[in-house]
Amino acid sequence: MDRETVYLEILQPDRCCLCFLVRAYANDHLKSLLDECVNDPATRAKLYRSKGFCRRHAWQGVHQHQSLGMAVIYGSLLEKGLQELPVKPRFWNIPKAAACPLCESEKARDHSAVREFIHIWSESEKLRDSFVEKGILCLPHLEKTLGQKMNSNGRKRLREAGEKALKRLVKDLNEFLEKQDYHRSQEPLGKEWDAWIRAVRMVSGEKD
Ligand SMILES: [Zn+2]
Ligand SMILES: [Zn+2]
Repeated sequence: MDRETVYLEILQPDRCCLCFLVRAYANDHLKSLLDECVNDPATRAKLYRSKGFCRRHAWQGVHQHQSLGMAVIYGSLLEKGLQELPVKPRFWNIPKAAACPLCESEKARDHSAVREFIHIWSESEKLRDSFVEKGILCLPHLEKTLGQKMNSNGRKRLREAGEKALKRLVKDLNEFLEKQDYHRSQEPLGKEWDAWIRAVRMVSGEKD
């Protein structure tokens, strides 16, 4: 499937397409790392330096039920940690762990996804039309994409479409808030019932 088709297929009105791609990539990367690279010395060395995955990615590994890979990695981290426990007080020079390798690769994928989106956005009328109809970018990805180089017409259209999609959410959120008021609290909630959750997703990112 070409990349334009991928974007056309993943557009949804309440899910940032870039968050979706980056998340899918991180999931696959974690899975293949735990399936294939657990005994690879370079991967092991990286995980020693970072003292394992960050909390988010470690629990993602647990939720993927990758028990064997996780047991091997975390068993060796525990052994290493026990060997290196301090024998005397250490007030400074506490060695700082390196960044989580999955966070690093996720960050790199995020940059490349932003560039790829802008490239396809600039080339594909189909993507621009579909995005206007049913796409959305979260606030951080809208900021990042608008910060990229592109022609002024493409930027204008992206800004308008991105703002419009997020403003629909603001409208739902206001409706939700108004119905919290006692004057309207008897009214049933409509499509705005989850606007506060969608707002979290559009500002802080998707749930893992
Ligand atoms: Zn996003
Ligand atoms: Zn991480």
